Amino acid sequence: MSQPASADRRADIETAVRNRSQYADTLHRPDPETGEPQPACVEAEYRDDAEFTDVPVAAYPHYSLCGNPECFGSEWW
Ligand SMILES: [Zn+2]
Repeated sequence: MSQPASADRRADIETAVRNRSQYADTLHRPDPETGEPQPACVEAEYRDDAEFTDVPVAAYPHYSLCGNPECFGSEWW
């Protein structure tokens, strides 16, 4: 079951992870099962060489939130 993301959803979480790539424009929910800054979704598996870092969500208002259910659910827009 998918439910639309809302502003509450964004406020829900203070810290997200982002790809360090300069082309990154998406924030992911941190994977709670690893001690490292890794997306909760499969993004990291697609990008073996990607490095992720944790960032405050509020600092990246222009980034979109990852639409994977493991991260921020369905479409944010
Ligand atoms: Zn994600």
